[in-house]
Amino acid sequence: MSHCPFCKYVEDRDREIIIDETPNTLTILSNPALAKAHCLIVPKRHVENISELTDDEKKEIFNQLIKTQLLLLKKFRGVDICQNYRPFLPQSKLKVNHLHFHLIPRGFEDELYKKSQIYEKEIFTDLNKEELNEVKDFILT
Ligand SMILES: [Zn+2]
Repeated sequence: MSHCPFCKYVEDRDREIIIDETPNTLTILSNPALAKAHCLIVPKRHVENISELTDDEKKEIFNQLIKTQLLLLKKFRGVDICQNYRPFLPQSKLKVNHLHFHLIPRGFEDELYKKSQIYEKEIFTDLNKEELNEVKDFILT
């Protein structure tokens, strides 16, 4: 019996939540969801960081991201894809340590935009050449 909710989906094969499956991945509905048809691509093996994925898992995850995005684009105008890595946060209903990629259907000025991401414009910072070089040095050294 696993305590990880995503490992539990792999064990239980919960039909309401699973959309698609490959030998190494599950595509599931996110529950809770940020938006209607918010999907997750999950490797079946419990890994926490993308660097732990095998070549087969990487290939299948990327193919499933493309397949699921195309599926969602039949119903929505846009789809955001993201993966969060924040091991410093304790595991909860909204934070699962098992690696997963979000596909979030988007529309022009949708609810999600109105509720939060409208502020993104104010957070972005324009960088000059000196600042770009400084950041590059910070990352690479
Ligand atoms: Zn897990």
